[in-house]
Amino acid sequence: MTRIKEASPKHRLDIGDPDLPPPPELLEALRKEEDFRYGPAEGLPEFREAVASAFGVEPGEVVAVAGGRHGLAALMWVFRRRRLLTPTPYYPGYFDIAGTFELGLGLVETDGGWMPKFAERGVYVVNYPNNPTGVVLPREKVRELVEVAEFVISDEIYRDIVFDGFTSPMELSSSVAVVYSFSKVFSVPGLRIGAVIAPRDVAREVAKFNRATVNVPPIPTQRAVASVVDILPRRRAEVSEAYRRRAELAAGWLKLEFVKPGGAFYVFPRVGDDARCFEAALAAGVSLLPGSLYGDPRHVRLALVEDEERLKEAFTAVNAACGGPR
Ligand code: PMP
Repeated sequence: MTRIKEASPKHRLDIGDPDLPPPPELLEALRKEEDFRYGPAEGLPEFREAVASAFGVEPGEVVAVAGGRHGLAALMWVFRRRRLLTPTPYYPGYFDIAGTFELGLGLVETDGGWMPKFAERGVYVVNYPNNPTGVVLPREKVRELVEVAEFVISDEIYRDIVFDGFTSPMELSSSVAVVYSFSKVFSVPGLRIGAVIAPRDVAREVAKFNRATVNVPPIPTQRAVASVVDILPRRRAEVSEAYRRRAELAAGWLKLEFVKPGGAFYVFPRVGDDARCFEAALAAGVSLLPGSLYGDPRHVRLALVEDEERLKEAFTAVNAACGGPR
């Protein structure tokens, strides 16, 4: 990040900070907030009900959290005594959390299409649509996962950005906790609001983690989000379409090999040497992130967080900087 700040590139395709504007309905609801008192650790009843109805579960299975990362920390803490496993490449946040709590986190290898082989017993932390690859698991893979897993922590913060369908492990097993966040779908990562959807006993433990950390997840935010939850289906369609077009543009424009994403807003092309590509792209005015951060030094991650015109210009620069013999 220091290198990126120094270089101050024209195109910032490094951090996954969505560029689409937040929904006006949500901004309006936030402006109306004037009650800033404490609230319950598990979240406001109206927030839990709104999320429960969106997910087709009971409000007792929903706990408000201060963003997806907070929910992940809560769940990894809940399962701290179990064998934790995650497929590679991985979201580095899992290792921030595991490191802080001094937990082991085993890696599961994936094939050329980023498909993991789920064989070992344990508690899996999985993320689909995936950051950094954008891939989604086919339903049979999800079945393989829930069959071997003792429990699944399913990081679904990109579940609203899907190009051709998505199966949540929650559909196939009850031993699943979903980590959901409004950061990406509403383009509001600074609002810090998300939810854990889990069996009641796990949900109660997550509320306990809330009490030990934020105590009360942001109350005005919960109320505002709950009041606009009905716009989710439309918003989901809009953002999915916008990011799908960008992924297609990348497929047509980038002269690098990558597995076609099924969702989220990243591509993870193969470049051979991630450090070399990072520096060369930066010199050409584009910041991207080296795959080493995700456990894979042969690839780089580009976040598709600019409009199509700007992306074309950035891809052209990346082609010149990172293409060619590897
Ligand atoms: N999981 C994944 C895979 C992510 O990419 C991110 C954010 N980039 C998060 C969790 C956390 O997001 P937030 O805390 O903003 O909900």
